[in-house]
Amino acid sequence: MNDKILLMLQLQNQLNNATNGEEWTKGITKNGKKINWRRCIYMESAEMIDSFSWKHWKNIDKEPDWDNMQIEVVDVWHFIMSLAIENYSQTLRGGIEDLAIVISELSSIEQILTNSTSFASQDKVMQKVEDIMRLSLDKGELQLETMIDDFFDLTIMCGLNLNKLYRLYVGKNILNQFRQDNGYKEGSYIKVWDGEEDNVVMKRIWEENGDIKPDMLYKELVKAYHSLIKS
Ligand code: MG
Ligand code: MG
Repeated sequence: MNDKILLMLQLQNQLNNATNGEEWTKGITKNGKKINWRRCIYMESAEMIDSFSWKHWKNIDKEPDWDNMQIEVVDVWHFIMSLAIENYSQTLRGGIEDLAIVISELSSIEQILTNSTSFASQDKVMQKVEDIMRLSLDKGELQLETMIDDFFDLTIMCGLNLNKLYRLYVGKNILNQFRQDNGYKEGSYIKVWDGEEDNVVMKRIWEENGDIKPDMLYKELVKAYHSLIKS
């Protein structure tokens, strides 16, 4: 089993438990709000398309915004993992470890287990995004493995391998947790630390410690935030 896949699924599950309550896999939040992961996926996929010059009447030669595209890929990954965990639970296929084993054995994962990355043409990338949208909008039974295959295809087409996807995902997940634990909902959270936005600080901690574990990243954020509050 791929340990990065397992860890990302565990972190996503924790985030959903904290945000939506422990019963979220039943499709409803602790506040009684209906959850629709498929809608999350196609709406976020539309944000992906906006990273490209898809309009034939405006800025027709604009270069793709790959930095933004990679962030949107990570956003969609949050929702695909959530849909997958929900699906495994609802269809009694198993828990997170079972899911991690199946994902680790997909042949499509091979292509992101590489060190070299490059970008595909924007037309090809948009077609791949639309494959994912089509699967999320399909009224029939969920084609989960096909959706994850398409997602891994998309990942490598956007210049990301598994290591980069993992870093971007874990960084965003930990930062989301940190924000929630420090008054984000209440509005008391400080987002700019000494002139830098929190996600810039997070990214630097990652870059300075390539092998940092999620709990250490969290502790480093606590340290930086507290020295900021005290000063
Ligand atoms: Mg969004
Ligand atoms: Mg987004």
